[in-house]
Amino acid sequence: LDASQIAALEPALDGRFGRGLFFAEEAHLDPRKALLSLRDKLRGMGARVEFGRSSAPASQDIEVDCTGSGDRRPELRGVRGEMLMLRTGEISLARPVRLLHPRISVYVVPRAENLFMVGATMIECDAKGPITARSTMELLGAAYALHPAFGEAELVETGVGVRPAFTDNLPRVERDGGNIRINGLYRHGFLLAPAMARRAADLILESWSKGVCP
Ligand SMILES: Cc1cc2nc3c(=O)[nH]c(=O)nc-3n(C[C@H](O)[C@H](O)[C@H](O)COP(=O)(O)OP(=O)(O)OC[C@H]3O[C@@H](n4cnc5c(N)ncnc54)[C@H](O)[C@@H]3O)c2cc1C
Repeated sequence: LDASQIAALEPALDGRFGRGLFFAEEAHLDPRKALLSLRDKLRGMGARVEFGRSSAPASQDIEVDCTGSGDRRPELRGVRGEMLMLRTGEISLARPVRLLHPRISVYVVPRAENLFMVGATMIECDAKGPITARSTMELLGAAYALHPAFGEAELVETGVGVRPAFTDNLPRVERDGGNIRINGLYRHGFLLAPAMARRAADLILESWSKGVCP
């Protein structure tokens, strides 16, 4: 895109950038809302959802383990990611915008109620402690470089997560008897979830059709 095409898609960025890439098929969701809605949908279909347990009941036919970085396999590593939530009514965006920056690659995702998620760092460690001062400065600096209106925004939340990744950064759905493991979703857990769930369901249904399960 050239500057005028950028302005046509995102008027708030009028005059700020001379070139950009537009992925028309790209979409985004609010992960917190998505998880709550999936939980409600499952309950509506008769599934039981329990929180605060660290093991499955002993009587299950098949166990699907998706414990992320809680899985202690040696080939699995954690990649720490930090993010910020900013609130401002001074700017509005219709879609996530990624800043291609030589030092800091940042994306800003618009959410409801004037909120913007700014993410995300990529740090090779599995520490879950609070966001560091350096990461906060870098993410805020990058948001400000995208649009100075973010300089006046309220910083309403910071967040930290550990992305579970194998050495090749590719996801795996593995089966060992009645145990299925889904892991290594790395930076793309939400994007990959439907495809990974389909693979796991295929493995489970295949077992049943062959009468392998108890
Ligand atoms: C800042 C940040 C931004 C991201 N942005 C995106 C994005 O834009 N798009 C995208 O697709 N992905 C994104 N990701 C990646 C995505 O969050 C991960 O890929 C995804 O969360 C991995 O899902 P998971 O279920 O495998 O692991 P997790 O989300 O880590 O879930 C594992 C769960 O298992 C629980 N658990 C662990 N051990 C046990 C146990 N013994 N018993 C019971 N429960 C247990 C944990 O409490 C946790 O709830 C982002 C990640 C971060 C940190």
